[in-house]
Amino acid sequence: MAMAYRLLVDTYCVSMEIRLAEIPAPIVARSLRFRPRLKTFDQSSWRIAYCVPRRPRSPTMRSTMLKHAAGIAGLLLGALAQAACPPDALGMSRTLTLKREGAAYGTVQHPPLPLAPGEVVLTFDDGPRPGSTNGVLDALAAQCVRATFFMNGKPMQQYPDLAAAVARAGHSVGMHGYEHPHYGQLDASAQLADLALVEDAYARQFGQRAPAFRFPFLEQTPVLLDKLREQGITVMSVDLAIDDWLADQTPAMLTARMLERLKGTKGGIILMHDGQDQTAAALPTLLRALKEGGYKVVHVEWSTP
Ligand SMILES: [Zn+2]
Repeated sequence: MAMAYRLLVDTYCVSMEIRLAEIPAPIVARSLRFRPRLKTFDQSSWRIAYCVPRRPRSPTMRSTMLKHAAGIAGLLLGALAQAACPPDALGMSRTLTLKREGAAYGTVQHPPLPLAPGEVVLTFDDGPRPGSTNGVLDALAAQCVRATFFMNGKPMQQYPDLAAAVARAGHSVGMHGYEHPHYGQLDASAQLADLALVEDAYARQFGQRAPAFRFPFLEQTPVLLDKLREQGITVMSVDLAIDDWLADQTPAMLTARMLERLKGTKGGIILMHDGQDQTAAALPTLLRALKEGGYKVVHVEWSTP
């Protein structure tokens, strides 16, 4: 794939010029999160720049801005990796950005996401977990697709670098309870306390309020549904599961179940678990099956808080 780029970092600016011979420019535009900064000079050349003022108001401001510049350089390289995806990869079809308005989605319990037939959203629960989460990240990267991870607060605090790696790879992250409790068996104050713990863990880890929540065991309670709605947090249920929590599931078994259920739902939110080794092992096969079945992967993101 012909593509040339230069990444320039000097004392004041980080900028990048990308020349594209074969890749349609909108693919790159989509994979860059700060589209407003993107300038195009012609159909095949792009330049993005982020500059620190030559006379910053204070040393603190200067160091903050330099940190931002370094972050942007990382994002640019990530975007290039995305753009440089092999042509036979599954790849992303589009991004769906949801508002932080406390809506609930997933036809097992709620209205559907606005998806076309054949569109799927990949979701993973119960991580981060060393080993299996790394395997899931590798399989997603190999097929150039992004997913949504619903993390538990406890492992998020235990493995902060792994949680950060998930977000850095461009995946969106929501919450899945602090302890993975059966909320239906807890009184209202214990439910709210668990939610407050995972919200706090998320905010410390990612530097922003969590946009979304998935109930452990999909076990919803009125007190938490009200609290989440009040805070504008999306409740993400599912359209289909592949039951990858069952013991001794081979890639072939999980793939057959996924394709069978997709026939019924015509796509939608797929529930999987990055906390499971067998899911990580099956994911390359599952993603290939989605590609062969003509399914399109949609990445769900949320508007900035
Ligand atoms: Zn779970």
